[in-house]
Amino acid sequence: MPDKFQHALEQLELQSLHRQLRVVDSTSTDRTFIQGQSVLLMASNNYLGLATHPTVKNAAIAAIAEWGVGSGASRLISGSTAPHHSLEDCLASFKCTEAALTFGSGYMANIGLLPSLMKGNGLILADRLCHASLIDGCRLAKTDFRVFRHNDLAHLQQLLATRKRAQPILIVTEGVFSMDGDLAPLDEIHQLTQDYEADLLIDDAHGTGVMGPNGRGTLEHFGLAPESAYQMGTLSKAIGTSGGYIVGSQSLKEFLINTARSLMYTTAPPPAIAAAATAALTIIQQEPERRTRLWQNRERLFTGLTSMGYTFTDTQSPILPVLMKNAQQAMEMSDSLFKLGVYVPAIRPPTVPKESCRLRLTVTSETTLSQTENVLTAFRTAGKALHLI
Ligand SMILES: *Cc1c(COP(=O)(O)O)cnc(C)c1O
Repeated sequence: MPDKFQHALEQLELQSLHRQLRVVDSTSTDRTFIQGQSVLLMASNNYLGLATHPTVKNAAIAAIAEWGVGSGASRLISGSTAPHHSLEDCLASFKCTEAALTFGSGYMANIGLLPSLMKGNGLILADRLCHASLIDGCRLAKTDFRVFRHNDLAHLQQLLATRKRAQPILIVTEGVFSMDGDLAPLDEIHQLTQDYEADLLIDDAHGTGVMGPNGRGTLEHFGLAPESAYQMGTLSKAIGTSGGYIVGSQSLKEFLINTARSLMYTTAPPPAIAAAATAALTIIQQEPERRTRLWQNRERLFTGLTSMGYTFTDTQSPILPVLMKNAQQAMEMSDSLFKLGVYVPAIRPPTVPKESCRLRLTVTSETTLSQTENVLTAFRTAGKALHLI
């Protein structure tokens, strides 16, 4: 039988679009072994270093000792354990909302939330750069769904004006965009939601723990009240663990418990993960200096690379996308950096448009001064060799 997959893979290879999984053999804050090579990992969303924090690890270990590993059933059958409820109380208090509901992942939160909110006759307007999980959620909602140009308020307003009589509208955007690192102009979008009586959903996967004076996220950054939007996020980035969440009113929570299929028909996440996430949230609130270090590290790297001549997207976050001419250049640069001991992944279509291939560099609070120097040196060496700078 001819191998029908081989041809498709060869085509991807020819376009420098083939992807492969790299095996991470071990990892710590200073060294990661990927495919036998020791590298500095500059690609993690573990912004505050909490994934390997001893208190977070010990919380998981203690909960495993008490609860075992698997949760044994869906939240609605017998999987809703005390650690899940403590985590939800903790999240609601951190986000200053009435309630929180956790899911197996951020992806599952989005594909459960959107169909629950918008069945039937609604209109969803989503930013073009929204994460795949939001787009999939919008599709699953089986309702009118239009995309507006990235952060283009005039286009959004045009689409808002196409509303059919009394049609409920939901605007969907991200707080911090995951591939560009820029922010949605939430203050202005919020004003539009008032003018048009629309609802707003923000995906704050990259904003939570990072943005705002207390790390509560992008709404806090803009000085907007938590009631201004439905907020979702993930526990897997700054919170350092795993799972997704939605925060809002108690009635929203109860409604989702009764309607969100990605909560109802899947096994609850392990209680130990919930316990670890609760510990991580506590540290985020008790150690604001982590966020200070994160932003200092971000500034050092951004300034260093800019002065070498590298250009970025309009980033305003610890996500530093270094723009490349095309997929091939992004791959060559990523490979050269890897050989120099720095892992920065190349981001190519379909994750980003063809003309905006990039290296997606992220910093964390745990990146040291000498590691930053090493990254800058590697970018200088590789960039010169490939005639990029
Ligand atoms: C990572 C991410 C998600 C998915 O979260 P997971 O918990 O990894 O499934 C959703 N939205 C955005 C913007 C993300 O960056």
